[in-house]
Amino acid sequence: MSTKFPAPSDPSRRDFLVKAGTAGLAGTAIAGLTTIASGQVPAGLRSATPRDVQNLTGDGRRRRILLRGGVVLSLDPRVGDFEKADVLIDGKTIAQVAPTIAAGDAEVVDCAGTIVMPGFITTHNHQYESLQRAIIPDGLLAGAWPMETYGSVVQNIWTAGRIVEAGARGTPGRVIWDLGRVPYDPEDLYIAQLIANLGQISEGVTCGTDTSQANHSPAHTDAMIKGMIDSGRRVLFDYSNGTNRSDEGVPFEFPGAMNDTTKGIGRIAKTYFSSKDQLVTLGFAGGGGPAFQGANYTGWQLGRSFGAFINNHSVGNPMGIVTSAADQRNGNDWSDITFVHATRWQDNSVGQIGARST
Ligand SMILES: [Zn+2]
Repeated sequence: MSTKFPAPSDPSRRDFLVKAGTAGLAGTAIAGLTTIASGQVPAGLRSATPRDVQNLTGDGRRRRILLRGGVVLSLDPRVGDFEKADVLIDGKTIAQVAPTIAAGDAEVVDCAGTIVMPGFITTHNHQYESLQRAIIPDGLLAGAWPMETYGSVVQNIWTAGRIVEAGARGTPGRVIWDLGRVPYDPEDLYIAQLIANLGQISEGVTCGTDTSQANHSPAHTDAMIKGMIDSGRRVLFDYSNGTNRSDEGVPFEFPGAMNDTTKGIGRIAKTYFSSKDQLVTLGFAGGGGPAFQGANYTGWQLGRSFGAFINNHSVGNPMGIVTSAADQRNGNDWSDITFVHATRWQDNSVGQIGARST
């Protein structure tokens, strides 16, 4: 029997979530793996047969999948949240959410003990870093080498391949160690994307965003996009900066330019994202200021000109959004923009979003 949750303000809802949440997020793939591992199909479940999935590939597939008996959190008052309910997926659409759904022709996945969040999209990952899992488990966010921090270890050593003095220590900007190259080859980034995307599918997080800060060369970018596509996961590729070693002869193309499909965002938009109706879609991390030094248009204008969603990585910089809002070229409809982190933003920064986002 299914019961609707109380309203979000009711403290008992939190109690229920604490009890129900121990199983973690929608473990649909986990349920499937358990079935395969044990060699038995629990009563009432129906897995796809090879015949079912014949000729059903890519986005053209038309499968019906019933996620049965999970804790369903839509977080949408029009749909409701349920202690126990079913979710029917029809092809690429979430067709129905209800306490009990009869769909005899659908594959049935047992979601008992798991949380199912239809439409849930993670808004932030740096998936190329999956090769560095647990490298600084007790690390701080910021701090110069020899402090072991996200900045000094993940970003300087393992992303840029060089350590630059920062902050109050020494001479800001002075290179104190240089590997002479970025540590990762394109193939490493392809593997990182497979690990990140397949790992998250296994955990039941089927739809995500990758803020890819490893666009060191066109080949690095291509490898990351191919890794995402090959994983079969639904991901927004948020095209971001990389380490510019062009003065050492390494080709570098970020961010690209308006009306130019030979480099940067224009090149990848033309090569990989000519259709919106595909699993991997295009995002752009450029901000609301000049797209690059000397540009007479903003990063948001550049991204939008190639059909990209805007996904801005805002660690600090509370005034960035204020100046972006004051620039008429950025428009008043911000429904295509996602801000991540947004740390140290006070009322004035957050207040800029308000009416602009629907
Ligand atoms: Zn981040």
